[in-house]
Amino acid sequence: MNISLIEQLTSAGRLDRIFIDGEWVLPAGQGRASIIDPSTEQPVAQIALGSAQDVAAAVEAARRAFATWSVSSPQSRAALLDRVHSLILERAELFAQAISLEMGAAIGFARSTQVPVAAEHIRVARDIVGSYPFLTHRGDTAIAREAIGVCGLITPWNWPLYQITAKVGPALAAGCTVVLKPSELSPLSALLFAEVMHDAGVPAGVFNLVNGEGPEVGAALASHPDVDMISITGSTRAGVLVAQAAAATVKRVAQELGGKSPNVILPDADLARAVPGGVAAAFRNVGQSCSAPTRMIVPRERLAEVERIACEAASALVVGDPRSPQTTHGPVANRAQFNRVQEMIGAGIAEGARLVCGGPGRPQGLERGFYVRPTIFSGVDPQMRIAQEEIFGPVLSIIAYDSVDEAVEIANDTVYGLGAHVQGQDLAAARAVAARIRSGQVHINYPAWNPHAPFGGYKRSGNGREYGLEGLQEYLETKAILGFGQEQPA
Ligand code: NAD
Repeated sequence: MNISLIEQLTSAGRLDRIFIDGEWVLPAGQGRASIIDPSTEQPVAQIALGSAQDVAAAVEAARRAFATWSVSSPQSRAALLDRVHSLILERAELFAQAISLEMGAAIGFARSTQVPVAAEHIRVARDIVGSYPFLTHRGDTAIAREAIGVCGLITPWNWPLYQITAKVGPALAAGCTVVLKPSELSPLSALLFAEVMHDAGVPAGVFNLVNGEGPEVGAALASHPDVDMISITGSTRAGVLVAQAAAATVKRVAQELGGKSPNVILPDADLARAVPGGVAAAFRNVGQSCSAPTRMIVPRERLAEVERIACEAASALVVGDPRSPQTTHGPVANRAQFNRVQEMIGAGIAEGARLVCGGPGRPQGLERGFYVRPTIFSGVDPQMRIAQEEIFGPVLSIIAYDSVDEAVEIANDTVYGLGAHVQGQDLAAARAVAARIRSGQVHINYPAWNPHAPFGGYKRSGNGREYGLEGLQEYLETKAILGFGQEQPA
């Protein structure tokens, strides 16, 4: 299937092209990037990379299309999103294969999670836009919420389709036109997404895709004078560079960046549920989630029990070939990520954290591919690198506390503030702790995912919010029209 996916994209000429103004065109840029299968470390295809010149053409097309798309009816925008949603679901298997190949997600996980949750962002945008109050009144002043303009959307490789839909859905719903620059490391799902947009009948110029590298295509988008807003999901490092490049043209910048999310296990928590749930959440998507709760903060007197249960949970994971339906965890997505995770496991050992399971190197029997051993450290000091820095791999740090106040202090003691979890049976106590944690989301006792819940960061995890109503509002300007409601003179 992987081979046929590449053959299909090749024979359609997609790998050589980008999507501008409703057409698949050859980029002006001459660059090429290899797509490496992380399970074999072998290249499987090459894609053409765009350049600043391609960004300029895409922005121009988006600017032209903005004139009509921004004043189209919300119902017609909802109708387009409805078709996009249906097509993603119809082509779900193709998307799952693409994601599994480009970033190593286990095929079962890609099918059950990566693709369906991505489709949800389109559905939610469709559902919200039809009834959104684009015009409200305050006295005789009308408050109009208008599309902000041309938006540059820059996305990462870890949840490749999901990050795209979380931006494209609400941006289009708001009446904006977009230029998408997906991660150069995960372009296959993005190319399939552009096909969906085309087949759903997106008007020319409303959606454009320029593949390319961050410092070239991403930077060109961020600094382009005719781009009104830039939304980036990626590392804090890239988010800062984008904000700097955007500053001279005073465009709005929305940043969804890194995290080091805490999971506070309160003294009354049911460990049999709280600990395996925490391991699963930390290692989901092989730990490559910005909001992964990678710091488990536990009562000191229950440390030994927590370690035992956590290890049991980690050893139940099936790490291996992402194509096998039995696999729960494939490799990490690329060599840089593999090296980073290995380095951080080494740092944990060097700083004196106690390895309770996993460790350096590949899992036994997996000599090739970017496979990592699910690794748990205990006795972690909150100031160690493994407790402070985002690792973006299956590495969990268990940190002990002596009082709930101290647990909250540790939870808040990083530069990040994206996700957080609290576990406890006394809900009033859990809510009180949730209120004291400085982050954009807090989950109490592993609730079901809610695609309407706003998502975004405090502190250096970013600014702005995605998903649901807040996600749509990100792409709107506010205009006050004073005197709107005055009486018409007779
Ligand atoms: P990355 O920062 O390397 O790249 C993200 C995107 O930014 C890519 O498209 C890349 O090409 C682009 N980019 C890089 N340098 C750029 C520059 N100078 N100018 C413009 N664009 C540039 O991140 P990644 O490795 O793809 O993804 C992992 C990171 O993303 C992690 O830090 C993770 O926490 C973060 N992330 C955050 C969220 C969130 O919602 N907060 C979600 C997923 C991932």
